[in-house]
Amino acid sequence: MKCHGCNCKMTEVREDYHYLESGLDNVYITNVCVYKCDCGESFASIPAVVKLNEMIGRSIAKKRSRLNGREIKFLRKNVGLNANALAEYIGVDKSTVSRWETGKQQIDKSHDRIVRIIYAHVKNLPLEEFNSIIEDFKGITQKDDNLPIYVPIETLTSFQQFKCAIC
Ligand SMILES: [Zn+2]
Repeated sequence: MKCHGCNCKMTEVREDYHYLESGLDNVYITNVCVYKCDCGESFASIPAVVKLNEMIGRSIAKKRSRLNGREIKFLRKNVGLNANALAEYIGVDKSTVSRWETGKQQIDKSHDRIVRIIYAHVKNLPLEEFNSIIEDFKGITQKDDNLPIYVPIETLTSFQQFKCAIC
């Protein structure tokens, strides 16, 4: 792979990748192939981004503590809703959704649940999984623990049988 910046050959390394593109600050993909150049340019090869985002969404929907703003935003975007539409679904003002997402206001317990239920519904999660989210509500704590989420790269690549189009 050649560097877009200086056209030099990039070095390939395997490392855990902090997936900030998700808009979340606690997601890491393990063992990602990252191309690096001496000029400072780097490029991470992340396969199956759609599947990756699905996995992250599910893990957020099942977390045992209150959703934080970044997570609400991630779930909203992952089901293809804009802030207006989510506010309408839930029955709150758009500015409320905005305060949740920016972290100016913590989401309350019942709205936290509604956001997860909307996610599970739109994603058409299997009934067992949906039920487990509902059962877990009892155990959801007030605090936002923001535990790191690690996604092993194998879970993204194992279903793909990649073949080179040229050789
Ligand atoms: Zn370069």
